[in-house]
Parts: sequence; structure tokens; C-alpha cells
Amino acid sequence: MSDCLFCSIVEGKIPCEKVFENENVLAFKDIYPQAKIHILFIHKNHSTDITQMDLNSIGEVFSAIKEYVDKNPKLTKGFRIVNNCGQEGAQTVFHTHFHLLAGEQLKSFGA
Ligand code: AMP
Ligand code: ZN
Repeated sequence: MSDCLFCSIVEGKIPCEKVFENENVLAFKDIYPQAKIHILFIHKNHSTDITQMDLNSIGEVFSAIKEYVDKNPKLTKGFRIVNNCGQEGAQTVFHTHFHLLAGEQLKSFGA
């Protein structure tokens, strides 16, 4: 999709620090990391947010996340997957993406 930042990254028009790629999925380092490890997983086909994504594509992204996690020894202690959806979900880039946060002790949602 023209005018989409992450589609431009998929097309190679904007650089990224790629950490994983297969036919359907691309993963790259977040430019403003919120944890020692902060990676964004996206499907190469554009969708605006998770409500617009088909289940097969969601499965392809999560399979890629699992493959990446299984191969990365830095993730054996755990990680967090986050998807921000829409305005109140604080989504800022409208190409569906899943944040993988790890590499340090993350805060729990509870007290
Ligand atoms: P969200 O707020 O969930 O929509 O997340 C968008 C994320 O994209 C933020 O964490 C940004 O730091 C990240 N981001 C924005 N532009 C780039 C870029 N060119 N390369 C890598 N990450 C980016
Ligand atoms: Zn896009």
C-alpha cells in the first residue's frame, strides 16, 4: 500500500534492521526500543489493524514469532507480545504489527 511506512519497509524503500524474514512475514528492530530487545513482526500483506487481519495471516505471523523465539537463546527466560489497536489502543503505525519485548525483567500489569 502506498503511503504506509511498514509497506515501504517491506518494499525496501525505507531501511530497517531486519532480524527475521520468510515469504509472508518480516521482523525488524523497533527504532525507539522500549526494552533491551524490541522487535516488530509484520505480515507483508497490508492490513490497517488486527481487526482487519484474517486468521491465516495472524497464524503466519505467530508461527514466525515462534520460529524466531525457538532459535534465539536470549529469549529463553521469556518475552512479551503486544499489539496496539486503534486510537485508544495507542496505535501509531497503521500497518498491523506485533511488538516482541524481552531481554530484561518487564513490569507486571498488577501492583
Ligand atoms: P504502535 O504505537 O503500536 O503503532 O507502534 C509503532 C512502533 O513503530 C513504535 O514502537 C515505533 O517506535 C516504531 N517505528 C516507527 N517508525 C519506525 C521505523 N522506521 N523503523 C522501526 N520502527 C519504527
Ligand atoms: Zn502497510
